[in-house]
Amino acid sequence: MIAYLPALYEDELVYSWFARYFAHMYPSYTNALEDLMENKNTRADFEFINHLDADAKETITKIIPMEDLIMGHTMFPSYRFIGHGRLCNALESMANSEEDVHRLLPVSKNRTSEQVHYIKYCPLCAIETKEIYGEAYWARQANIRNIDICTKHKCKLKNTNIRISGKQSARLYIAEEEINDTVPELVEDGLELHLAEYITDVFQSPIYMDNTVKIGEFLNSKLEGTKYLSARGKARNITMLFNDFMEFYKELPNQGITKLSQMQKIFTGYRWDFYDVCQIAFFLGISVNELVNPKLPERSQTELFNEKVARLYDTGLGCHRIAREMGCSPSTAKNANKVKPKAEHDYSGRKGIKRDDWEKMDEEMKQQVRDICEQIYYNQGGRPGHVTVNAVCRDLRLPDKRFDYLPKCRKIIYEYEEKKEIYWAREVVWCYQELIKKKEEVCWRNIRNVTNLRKDNFMASFPYLEKFTDMETAGKIKSLLPI
Ligand SMILES: [Zn+2]
Repeated sequence: MIAYLPALYEDELVYSWFARYFAHMYPSYTNALEDLMENKNTRADFEFINHLDADAKETITKIIPMEDLIMGHTMFPSYRFIGHGRLCNALESMANSEEDVHRLLPVSKNRTSEQVHYIKYCPLCAIETKEIYGEAYWARQANIRNIDICTKHKCKLKNTNIRISGKQSARLYIAEEEINDTVPELVEDGLELHLAEYITDVFQSPIYMDNTVKIGEFLNSKLEGTKYLSARGKARNITMLFNDFMEFYKELPNQGITKLSQMQKIFTGYRWDFYDVCQIAFFLGISVNELVNPKLPERSQTELFNEKVARLYDTGLGCHRIAREMGCSPSTAKNANKVKPKAEHDYSGRKGIKRDDWEKMDEEMKQQVRDICEQIYYNQGGRPGHVTVNAVCRDLRLPDKRFDYLPKCRKIIYEYEEKKEIYWAREVVWCYQELIKKKEEVCWRNIRNVTNLRKDNFMASFPYLEKFTDMETAGKIKSLLPI
């Protein structure tokens, strides 16, 4: 039975509050846990709240409503991008102590294969709170994953050696006892600090629980008017975006996104990692306020484009003139006037697909298929891939015959398909350039080792080499074959 709970500090984690309860009341943390938890063997979750004892919950909710406690004193805001329905469900379920948080939110269990996280703190915040309150505490702001700076003090955060883990012991670690090193290391003004400030602001911003805009769609809408989206707003150049993004963040110690496919999944609605979404938004110059309460434009770039083309047609211009005016190809101008497409907002489309929904699915999956084709074809500058219906199917983890029902998607794949010999030529040219770049010996043996091409395949690629390189290089490649 709880008689007294210490005051809850600003931005303090519930875990820290409980740890201070133990420090103030008991010699052993097990006594404290017995008071607080539904089951005395329940461990206290560092980032969230585990099932509480009914009496404890009553005492707590007299001090602060459960929803406010979750929003303001757990790491819940790190999951703000997972989608409206899931977020509401998680909040409700946590407030009512129903499901385990790990079933509600994609919380990393800190398995061995993943990055290990430790409880972090800011040495200057620790000194400051000790002066004001007489004790230090664990703050949320210091424990946002991948952020290593206290933006209030522009100071490096320090790791304790307490691991945050799904299997962490039930112990309640008290900040006052664990924080010994308070020598600050100040950080210089630069990208890492600016990004940390941005992300910390996003984290601390209110969560608009009734906003139903999906974050992937919002980010897509923010590509409108940039070079990463075609004039008509239909084709995303995700490879270019990815390359610019990686270049922009290359100095950063913590890189969330390292693969093109991870970025793609955010734009197609299959990923919502807090840090990654923030990184993309910061890169695209989206303000904190816009990101935390996202709104979609009333009309998409595609709709605006089509309307403008229609107006130009009405004035009697031909498709070539219109194409020049709009910065697109004549066929795009022609198509834009023909079809009256719906705004392509919903990029997800895995859920609730019925047999008669093929057409809708075909339309919705076009962008995703195009992205995957690009990814296979260019492979981020690595060994180029051969785009085939099977390869796309495999990468999207779709059933074998799926594209038999999706003619528009199939057509996109066909645009990337190429004769084997042409693909080999592309691969050979890539390999030749790689060998030069890596300063390795340029010879047939090395080409064979990298590409696995047989001699006759290599020869079959010769007529197509000039599609991908100049005549001189093509000549050099051909001369590599031993006579
Ligand atoms: Zn600080």
